[in-house]
This record gives sequence, C-alpha cells and structure tokens, in this order.
Amino acid sequence: MFHDPDLETLPREDLKKLQLSRLKDLVLRTYHNVVFYRNKLEELDFRPEHLRSLSDIRHLPFTEKQDLRDHFPYGLLALPRENVVRIHASSGTTGKSTVVGYSRRDVRNWAGLMARSLAAAGVSSRDIVHNAYGYGLFTGGLGVHYGVEELGATILPISGGGTKRQAMLLKDFGPTVLTCTPSYALHLYEVAREAGIEFRDLGLHTGIFGAEPWTDEMRLEIEAKLGLKALNIYGLSEVMGPGVGQECEAGHQGIHIWEDHFLVEIIDPRTRENLPPGQTGELVLTTLTKEAQPLIRYRTRDLASLIDTPCCCGRTHTRISRILGRSDDMLIIRGVNVFPSQIEGLLIETEGLTPHYQLILGREKSMDTLEIRVEVDESIFSDEIKHLQRLEQKIKNNIKEFLGVTAGIKLVEPRSLDRSEGKAQRILDLRG
Ligand code: ADP
Ligand code: ZN
Repeated sequence: MFHDPDLETLPREDLKKLQLSRLKDLVLRTYHNVVFYRNKLEELDFRPEHLRSLSDIRHLPFTEKQDLRDHFPYGLLALPRENVVRIHASSGTTGKSTVVGYSRRDVRNWAGLMARSLAAAGVSSRDIVHNAYGYGLFTGGLGVHYGVEELGATILPISGGGTKRQAMLLKDFGPTVLTCTPSYALHLYEVAREAGIEFRDLGLHTGIFGAEPWTDEMRLEIEAKLGLKALNIYGLSEVMGPGVGQECEAGHQGIHIWEDHFLVEIIDPRTRENLPPGQTGELVLTTLTKEAQPLIRYRTRDLASLIDTPCCCGRTHTRISRILGRSDDMLIIRGVNVFPSQIEGLLIETEGLTPHYQLILGREKSMDTLEIRVEVDESIFSDEIKHLQRLEQKIKNNIKEFLGVTAGIKLVEPRSLDRSEGKAQRILDLRG
C-alpha cells in the first residue's frame, strides 16, 4: 500500500533531479544560516554555487555526533528559535544525548514519512496500533503516534513500561499492529503469557520493530512466538526519528530509505570514501528537507550496506540492509572484532536457548575477556548438569569456530536476565 504513490514510485532519474535541487537548497540554507556549516564550507573553499551534481556531495564536509554535542542544545539551528515547534533528544545510548529541533513543516513531513512507513508495512486506516515506544524526549513514541494519525488509523498511545497492564490492554483493545523495540516485544509476549494471554489469539498481524539492532534470526524467533509479521523500521533522532526508512510488506528485502527527504551514502569509516552497493560500511545521511536543524553528511555510526536492485514492491527508493550494529558496539576480544549481532545470530540458532542474553566484558592480565550469559529454555532447564555442560561447550565451540573468539559461556535460568522497557542493554562492560 502506498501513502504517497507518485513520490514512492518516482522514476530514479526524476528522484535524482529532485534530490539535486533540494541538496542545492540545503547547502544554501546552511551556508547562510548555520555558522558551523559556513565555517566548515569556507575551510574547504566550497561555495554553494560549486554544487552542480549529486556526486559533488563528496566535497561536502561530514557532520559527527560530537559536532551536535559541541553545539548543545540549540547551536545548529538554521531557523530562529521561535520557529521551532518541538524539541526531541536522542536516547543517549552511547554518551551525552543530542538535541534536535523541528519546525512546523518538519513535524508535518515527519508525520507524512511515518505514515508512508506504516503503509509500506501494510498498515491501513482500518488498523488499531498499540504503540509501546516511549513517549517523551525520545522520538519513538510521538514519531509513530503522529504517523498513525496522519494515516487515519487508530492510535493507542501506550508508551513504555507497565508491562502487565499492557498485556491486558492488548486483550481489551484488540490492536492489529504492535510498535516497540524487538526486545520489548519479546518481553511483552512473556508477561502476557504468564497472565494467560496468548499472542497468537490476539488479532495482531504486524509488528513494526526498531530503535535497536536485531538479527534476522531474532526476527524469525519473534514471528514464530508472537504470530505476526515482524518488519524493521529505521530512524534516528538527529536526522528525524522513526520513519527515515522502513522495510516494505514484500518482506525482508531491506529497508527503503525515503530518498526524496534523505540522501544516503555508505562510507568506509576509516578512509571516509564511498562504498559500492553490497559492501558494509557506515551509513551517512543528509537531510534534504529539514528546516530547523538540517544536517549535511551525518555520520550515523550505524553499519549497513546498500541494496540497489529494484524491489518487487514497486518503490523506487533505495534500500539498506538490516543494521549490523553500531560501530561503537564492536567488541575487540584479544584482537578479534566481533559484533553483538553476530553472537545473537549464533545463540538464537542453538536449540534450547532463548533470545535473552548479555555480554560481559572483563579484563584479565591486561587481556579483554568476554562472558556470554544466555537464558535457557524452560524445557531444558531441569536437564541433568552434564547435558547443560555439553550445551555450554557446544556454544563455546561454535563461537570460536564461526567468530574466532574465545568466550566463557554461562547458561542461566529462564527469566533471570534484566528486561528493558525500551532499548535492550546487552553489553555490561566491567573493564573500568
Ligand atoms: P541513541 O543513539 O542515543 O540510541 P536514538 O534514540 O535517536 O539515539 O536512536 C537511534 C539509533 O537507534 C540509531 O542510530 C541506531 O543505532 C538505532 N536504531 C534505530 N532503528 C534501528 C533498527 N531498525 N535496527 C538497528 N538499529 C536501529
Ligand atoms: Zn519494497
């Protein structure tokens, strides 16, 4: 289902023309209205009129998360503060949170893109959406909220927390769509189950999950347990919030990034050179229409690859792969690089384990160590010790064989690890 059929299926040539005219306008606006960008462009001897083609973007400066922190809270506004109608902030997952301002048109565009994302996921005006993303400074709750209203569907503004009550509401209000983080979806499933509510008996047909990395193995697990189609939504507060991109109903073919509003690049984080489709690197986004706080070549620190083949859904907007993780989350264990998502994939594929795990980083004699704690299934929890030990050894061998790292494995009781109401906290760093 298309929300903006003409724009979503715009021939790529026309899409590129639109991007170029918007990029020119962006450079002009930032050059004149944001001191930070004027200085950066002048340092590079780049004047707005030098921009002639889309590939000239390579000459434009990058914007780093640190630049937003340095200009906290309002230093990067391109409009007078009185034209800002809303403020949000990032969750602060990797440090001090960053602040972002929106103009009246920015919040309208956001609602439109979020509605477009919902429609791409198969949501229509007949649906009832149980929105368990947190409401507040975090963009998840309000972002989804206004998109649902824009689409004309029914919003249940639940927010995060109060999980037992949420389980009851799922039963009482009959939502057809669930929106939250993938880890919270699993938590909600467990709590509902304890209260005698089976997800499969509810009328939920689709879950729109994002705000944290999750693997395709995790997706399969969620779909099997919750009995719904689990689709991936991508966004970040600095660039807008949820709805920068969305996996379409065609299913698991990558996340469409709405290119009439965002220019997408994947770069090698070390050389900062652009990478071709298929190669994994850092996602870089330029906001083409944001008025209040536009960003040029924002380095998201999220790792993904471009998929440039046409999608069977008919949308012409490019796609990115599932996010592998954040560059900040990469673990280096005795010289070997590994992402939590790679460990997640292996754990979920192992019979007898649940998708609840924690990675504990420690240090022994100046060497980094990794311990993986993972909850076992109820079914094998009461097994004999020697069976559990055999399972531990098996996981250890798999991690060594497929990822090249030596990890300590600790199987723990079902439901013993902390559950999060928003983004899962999977890494515990005890290295001091
Ligand atoms: P913070 O960086 O503090 O968590 P936000 O709350 O704005 O800030 O969250 C945006 C970040 O969440 C993204 O940069 C990305 O790392 C992560 N994220 C959002 N959606 C997804 C997704 N679908 N898959 C993986 N990671 C995601
Ligand atoms: Zn598609």
